[in-house]
Amino acid sequence: MTSIAFIGLGNMGGPMAANLVRAGHRVAGFDLSPASCDQARADGVGVAGSTADAVRDAEVVVTMLPAGKHVLSVWTEILPALKDGTLVIDCSTIDVESARKAHGMARDQGRSLMSLDAPVSGGVGGAKGATLTFMAGGTKEAFDRAEPILSKMGKKVVHCGEAGAGQAAKICNNMILGISMIGVSEAFVLAEKLGLSHQALFDVASTSSGQCWSLTTYCPVPGPVPTSPANNGYKPGFAAALMLKDLKLAQEAALASGASTPLGAEAAQLYALFANAGHEGDDFSGIINFIRGQKS
Ligand code: NAD
Repeated sequence: MTSIAFIGLGNMGGPMAANLVRAGHRVAGFDLSPASCDQARADGVGVAGSTADAVRDAEVVVTMLPAGKHVLSVWTEILPALKDGTLVIDCSTIDVESARKAHGMARDQGRSLMSLDAPVSGGVGGAKGATLTFMAGGTKEAFDRAEPILSKMGKKVVHCGEAGAGQAAKICNNMILGISMIGVSEAFVLAEKLGLSHQALFDVASTSSGQCWSLTTYCPVPGPVPTSPANNGYKPGFAAALMLKDLKLAQEAALASGASTPLGAEAAQLYALFANAGHEGDDFSGIINFIRGQKS
């Protein structure tokens, strides 16, 4: 049993902390939202009165927060309060620069603290079912220590490289996803104009060179893949607002590193238009209706 502090008990962090409790760890948690604290308490998390109280006896700290500024602010507060040798893992999706800054802050404490960026893929369903994929950045020593904890919340834990590599992997993957969903959607809209049925395009493309996850697992039209959100009124799934967040992070990273990502930039613009048209809470595959020119 490990003493774990969990900061950020929202849609993702709440069920992740509950899975750590289920795995037999002692979990102390904190969130600014009373409703999140109540749910965590019901799930067996020992809810503390403050971030500092939650981390006091921790051997491992996990943060699961909205954005880089929240992570840097919480890490600034907790790092001086941690015991020597504590491992701090940030599972939020944040910009690579803030992730590297957070690692630097832990290193600068000079008290053998270990740090890992470990964003996730798999959404709320994956958080509840402990089937997340973790992409980790940090030293091998930090990764080896984190792996048995992370594997209680997910089915796959990948060491991507040094500090920030987990966030880099996450935004590169989601840039592929955003672009490929738009590509697949455009193909279905063109097929409609050409009188080709959805099923015929699916049967050909899913076994041809157009094959990809956005088509075969998450098909944006109803029918060919019965479990995709298209069959459920485009309820998320993975909300367009979160896709837009990740595409913006990819663009920030591209700008900072000098990479040319013209399709990533276009995808970010399209998802901004889609979200601003009132669809930020829809599944991101709903962009097909927007591309088709439908009002809703
Ligand atoms: P959420 O808004 O439901 O949860 C974030 C929680 O952080 C909130 O409960 C909020 O009250 C809390 N919080 C904010 N500042 C705090 C502070 N200073 N101290 C304590 N608590 C604080 O968001 P979420 O959906 O759980 O997402 C969390 C992270 O996971 C984000 O970075 C998101 O991009 C990423 N992510 C989300 C999904 C998804 O499908 N929801 C999928 C993959 C990754």
